Amino acid sequence: MKNPVSTMIEDGKRTILVADDEFINREILSEMLRDEYDIITAEDGEQAYEIIRQHSTTVSLILLDLIMPKKSGLELLSDIKKQSDLSGIPVIVLTTDQESEIISLNTGASDFIPKPYPRPDVVKARIHRAIELSEGRKIISDTQNDVITGLLNGEYFYEYAEAFDKYHPNTEMDAVVLGIDNYHVLLERYGKEKCIELLSLTASELGEQYPDFNSILCHKEMDIFFIYCHHCSDHGNRLHAISGAVNAVFKGVKLKMGIYGSADKALDLRKRFVRARMAYNKLQGNYHDDLALFDDEILRKVLFEEQLCSDFSNALEEEQFMVYFQPKFDITGEKPVIAGAEALVRWRHPSLELISPGLFIPLFEGNGLIYDLDEYVWRKTAAMIREWHGRFEKKIPVSVNISRAEMYDPDLPERLVRIVEENGIAVSDLHLEITESAYVGDSNMITGRVEELRNKGFFIEMDDFGSGYSSLNMIGELPFDALKLDMLFIRNAFKNGNMKMLDIVIDIADCLEVPAIAEGVETEEQYLKLKESGCEMIQGYYFSRPLPADEFERFLE
Ligand code: C2E
Ligand code: CA
Ligand code: CA
Repeated sequence: MKNPVSTMIEDGKRTILVADDEFINREILSEMLRDEYDIITAEDGEQAYEIIRQHSTTVSLILLDLIMPKKSGLELLSDIKKQSDLSGIPVIVLTTDQESEIISLNTGASDFIPKPYPRPDVVKARIHRAIELSEGRKIISDTQNDVITGLLNGEYFYEYAEAFDKYHPNTEMDAVVLGIDNYHVLLERYGKEKCIELLSLTASELGEQYPDFNSILCHKEMDIFFIYCHHCSDHGNRLHAISGAVNAVFKGVKLKMGIYGSADKALDLRKRFVRARMAYNKLQGNYHDDLALFDDEILRKVLFEEQLCSDFSNALEEEQFMVYFQPKFDITGEKPVIAGAEALVRWRHPSLELISPGLFIPLFEGNGLIYDLDEYVWRKTAAMIREWHGRFEKKIPVSVNISRAEMYDPDLPERLVRIVEENGIAVSDLHLEITESAYVGDSNMITGRVEELRNKGFFIEMDDFGSGYSSLNMIGELPFDALKLDMLFIRNAFKNGNMKMLDIVIDIADCLEVPAIAEGVETEEQYLKLKESGCEMIQGYYFSRPLPADEFERFLE
């Protein structure tokens, strides 16, 4: 079989940029190469840079004169090599002396061609070889390395790290996770292009602190880097050096690190990184610390979560999951009247007592078990609504929570409609709560999905509104039928006596002409204040905690 690289070189006509300020030099080279290559020319360094930026994906090689007006060849070369999307383009410098040859090679040139030019076949051979080498390398690096940072991507990282372990079974190693705090906020603030610079700067500083010979580095996800390195006790210093360098360019960016130190090699490599990641996760929302070690407390949590996951399918079969109901009251009239309810799941675990959803929902969202659990809760809820319709005169809609992960399922609308139909209730009887944070991310896709649900007749309540994700600009364009204010608004307002924020979010609902629903209402004072501010509905311990179905029925009687 033919080598794919040489096949590519024979088949396609490649583009070469000739950057030289002297007309005669451009002419000679163009003449020499025109038969085999498409030639673009530039008369000075700045123009050359423009062309390279514009044609970064099509230029196969740059022939670069060192002495040019506006930007010297050497400056240009060093700029190109610093930018991850350009650094792969091979550059051959056109030189007049030996010293500049050495400097150019050190700056990243692939080769040089001395002036006056050697015989055309020599020039062509050098060009041919430089392209071949670079494309051969590119084939490797496109699959193994991440384009933005040049570091290994996830799959290859594990492969390399496992191979390392195999050959160095006795070397003590640390699994380290480095992340950029609040990356999604930075994305909003700086935009995508700047954030790519931030990532590539972080990667290169990471490489400085964790050099090749004792570390393997990986750009794991957008804002997450993995480091597998010889055991050491100065990760803190290294983190601060990286942070310092990054902050010199991007002020206020916070880097955090989670470490599974002297990682137990009997444990699967991925699990070791899960542990480092858990240490890292502990730092979320913590403003004081930027470094955390995996410790016994986290280990207990891991073991607990592992137990929950392994008990899950049995629990589902044995109906250990209980659906509780919490009433929602309409407070626009003189007296509050029940106007709806929210279904909330609990786990009656045989050996662990009642487990609250805060402990298992995020876990199951992470590993996909949420699909089965949610579906179970929706079915139970729909069946309950049906039963209540038969037994009580009062009919109220009941809302179920739709997890963020569900929004990616194209069958979601169909699944919900099927449940409604199978239970003989109306689409309008089953409200859907979708958390505000689900709307961010791939917002077009999510918005489309929510529109689909609304078109089928579902009433959408945006949950946890104001917990800090969507911008005010965006909110007017999102589809929903009611706003549920995040509980923190109420808690904060009554903690510091400042009602402004609370009034503002209620006004936003008003502006958008949807009812505001306040949850987490615990006192009469809160209830009265919310009523005065024009909030339409409330839910909270003040009226009732979430209750098992039979206890909830007293509200329907
Ligand atoms: P959420 O949707 O924001 O639900 C409101 C939470 O506030 C519930 O916690 C509820 O019990 C609690 N709560 C209600 N009134 C008060 C109050 O006056 N004071 C205080 N401090 N808390 C109050 P819960 O039941 O522990 O649920 C926690 C979260 O778990 C829910 O937050 C929801 O995001 C999720 N969840 C619960 N059930 C399900 C489910 O079946 N599927 C999915 N995907 N998520 C669920
Ligand atoms: Ca909810
Ligand atoms: Ca909520």
